Amino acid sequence: MALSGIQIYKLLPQTNCKECGFPTCLAFAMKLAAKQVELSTCPYVTEESKTQLAESSAPPIRLVALKAGTEVKAGNEVVLFRHEKTFYNKPGIFVRFKASDSGIAAKAAAAHAYSVNYVGMDFVVDGFAIEADGDLGAAVKAVRGATDRPLVLIGDAAAIEPGLQACSGETVLIHAADASNWEAMAALAAKYKAALAVKADTLDGLVDLIEKIKAKGVEDLVLDFDTTQLGKWLAMSTQVRRLAIKQNFRALGYPVFAPAYAAADEGIFAAEAIAKYAGFVVLDKFVPENVYPLLVLRENIYTDPQKPIQVQPGIYEINSPKPEDPVLITTNFSITYFAVANEVEGSGLPAWLVVTDAEGMSVLTAWAAGKFDAERIAKAVKGFDVASKVSKKRVVLPGHVAVLSGELEEELPDWEIRVGPREAVDLPAFMKQALN
Ligand code: SF4
Repeated sequence: MALSGIQIYKLLPQTNCKECGFPTCLAFAMKLAAKQVELSTCPYVTEESKTQLAESSAPPIRLVALKAGTEVKAGNEVVLFRHEKTFYNKPGIFVRFKASDSGIAAKAAAAHAYSVNYVGMDFVVDGFAIEADGDLGAAVKAVRGATDRPLVLIGDAAAIEPGLQACSGETVLIHAADASNWEAMAALAAKYKAALAVKADTLDGLVDLIEKIKAKGVEDLVLDFDTTQLGKWLAMSTQVRRLAIKQNFRALGYPVFAPAYAAADEGIFAAEAIAKYAGFVVLDKFVPENVYPLLVLRENIYTDPQKPIQVQPGIYEINSPKPEDPVLITTNFSITYFAVANEVEGSGLPAWLVVTDAEGMSVLTAWAAGKFDAERIAKAVKGFDVASKVSKKRVVLPGHVAVLSGELEEELPDWEIRVGPREAVDLPAFMKQALN
């Protein structure tokens, strides 16, 4: 059972030393009860208290990590909705191969090589699943020749064991234990220290299996709802998350497996699973145009809403600008920067792009919050020594903040201030028509 804030407080040193960043031990205890801080933030908790607090301070969803050359973590989440705090571990996106496929090595190499840049971040496929419809040991060796990313092995215990032997030293997810085979699968997971997917189509069935498997010493479990029916999967996934977070119901506090490869519409199922609340999503095959939107969706959900993605403020050169080329102004919100930079770069027109420190906000949001004003823009123009790079002292303001042009003229009296378009997509036409 989770402890209340008062119960936790009684186990703390009660010295109010403030080293944890809170004014009192009681304030820290309340945050700990709400799972908004880590117990380790207080350096003075006794070992005895730590033991008693372990249950209360542990995240309601167990962290399961698959390890090979890279690592994929799922679980450790503490909220139902991202806006309550943040989500920590993005669901791993895996691509499935079949052991019987003679082209498995080439397919693994192609999927491994895939990398796409999205607003300054490189996205890749996280790992691979291999279905044991043939010699799994040979298939694992073939895939390992092409990629070092974590693996999911799918099949019955006898078929999976050669695959586990071929990737010893790694932490693999094996799929799946059900009412008919759980003893053999649990024995395999225990022997090879693998994570184990547990499959049942009811929550009661899952709890029953989990209790039996845990009694065999297997702790790293992943839930499979034995369905790809969108409504049922969503209901079960939401119930499991809600029970774990709101009721601290540890029996179902595990990451969730989403077998998109078995769904009628893989993309829709995978998108639902990423949104609510998969830990591992396995796709049927590697198709870049299907994988890309799922990676972007995942990023949008798993970025911390309190930490905007930012680019470094500075002066950026686009298409090798010369001194006579225009100076454009924008903010350091990543999506804003890339919207502007990509439009200008795609047009082939050279420009200097001054990225102002607006604490990672977009143009209008930053302006409304007082983080993108004439003073800050002038400070950036002067601080990055833009005048030394150009022969024409002229800056182009985003159209959304045309209202700043008068103040900016006062801040930069020897500069010509021009108001550009509101949308980045209109910049190339503006540069061609209005700046020549
Ligand atoms: S660091 Fe520990 S002892 Fe100090 S105020 Fe925080 S909870 Fe209390």
